[in-house]
Amino acid sequence: MPSLSSSNIANNLAQIQQNILEFCDKYHRQPQTVRLLAVSKTQSAEKIRTAFNAGQSCFGENYLQEALQKISDLDDLPIEWHFIGAIQSNKTRELAENFAWVHSVDRLKIARRLSQQRPSTLAPLNICLQVNISNESSKSGFNALDIGAGVDEIILLPNLKLRGLMAIPAPATHLTEQRTTFAKMHKLLKPLQTKYPQLDTLSMGMSGDMQAAIAEGSTIVRIGTAIFGARKPSAL
Ligand SMILES: *Cc1c(COP(=O)(O)O)cnc(C)c1O
Repeated sequence: MPSLSSSNIANNLAQIQQNILEFCDKYHRQPQTVRLLAVSKTQSAEKIRTAFNAGQSCFGENYLQEALQKISDLDDLPIEWHFIGAIQSNKTRELAENFAWVHSVDRLKIARRLSQQRPSTLAPLNICLQVNISNESSKSGFNALDIGAGVDEIILLPNLKLRGLMAIPAPATHLTEQRTTFAKMHKLLKPLQTKYPQLDTLSMGMSGDMQAAIAEGSTIVRIGTAIFGARKPSAL
């Protein structure tokens, strides 16, 4: 018999996959264009293993030391690891060596270092540029006005594969308000995609705003709480 918590994780994953399908239908999106990233920060390796066994293969982590421990504990599983947290420039080597994706590239210097430090034995590192879409002084990220210049430089870095844009908007409770912000992201990506057709990613949408994100073109939704339950209050 699976423990209660492991069946909860499997049920939650099934429920979210179902919601993704429903929102894709509602907003005329192709379901295969929306991927689910399970955000496992503060969750145990055991819970990640349970989610993997239930069919989830990509996991997002925010804290490097915690992530490296889990990557090591779970190295028997073919998990695709995504980094979605704040980046200190002296930690880029560990990111470059251990992750398949980094969503939270928030300045040019970080992109240059990740490209220099990506081992040549690995495929290019997939990255997204984080955009400070709500213009919050507390949040890092490219300013929407500077993103074009950032993309023009970063697209040329040899060991990176620039995939698109990522955002963590200021909290908003209503669907229309959430959609307005995500629509800005879509509008930012569009001309960049015309110039660089390989840009295929909008990383946006969390447990509280997944519907709005899918409505406005998200291709990766990053979901934590709705899969694993509430995190401990001391953690982010
Ligand atoms: C924690 C986190 C998430 C997941 O948030 P939930 O509300 O738990 O779904 C997504 N993206 C980022 C960048 C996060 O830090």
